[in-house]
Amino acid sequence: MGRIAVAIDGPSGAGKSTIARAVAAELGFIYVDTGALYRTIGLAACRAGVAGDDADGVTALLPGLELELRYVGGAQHVLLNGEDVSEAIRTPEISRYASQVSAIPHVRAYLLDLQRDMAKKDSVIMDGRDIGTVILPDAEVKIFLTASAEKRAQRRYLELREKGQDVTPAEVLRQMAARDEQDAGRAAAPLRQAEDAVLVDTSGLDLAQSIAAVRRVIDGKRP
Ligand code: C5P
Repeated sequence: MGRIAVAIDGPSGAGKSTIARAVAAELGFIYVDTGALYRTIGLAACRAGVAGDDADGVTALLPGLELELRYVGGAQHVLLNGEDVSEAIRTPEISRYASQVSAIPHVRAYLLDLQRDMAKKDSVIMDGRDIGTVILPDAEVKIFLTASAEKRAQRRYLELREKGQDVTPAEVLRQMAARDEQDAGRAAAPLRQAEDAVLVDTSGLDLAQSIAAVRRVIDGKRP
């Protein structure tokens, strides 16, 4: 069987990464978390003291950045100029930076080939905001994964608390709504469902049911 690309897009907190990672492990596909790439550029901007919405400032940083995705025991690690930043990019502050830098067209262009190259080498499940619409428009399977804003905020809240981060549910809901608005409202590759994507709403589903729902879509489309 040839290579297969599965594109999973949707708003933050819909469960994309958890579900995609589990399904990729079941199928033996590589899981590519593209949000990590935008987060890494956000981290670089933060460390350089450049505002995330300073398009010229962030663009000027790009030639000095070397990004690499590495897989260790099936887990994706992202390296910024040789440093493993996989943990450092998972804070609310860097989420905000990521959302801001991802609206800059030069940033999106910079990350385009890196993402496409991953799908040329292996069968992948790639999650993000524009995978089915821009990065892999010819993906064999496209899924738009979503859930109600309350449900998504609740999940993200529990995830952050588990990591020991000091947040309130209201704060998480507010930050998530701001990020949704920014991601869907931007001019460059806004978050939207591809016409040929299958909608999966996980609001009323637990993790096992969500994984099964995504599996059904993939199994139904595989040649
Ligand atoms: O998926 P995650 O929450 O880690 O992504 C962080 C941010 O990166 C998102 O809020 C979004 O602005 C941006 N992003 C994007 N396109 C992608 C993946 C992520 O614009 N394919």
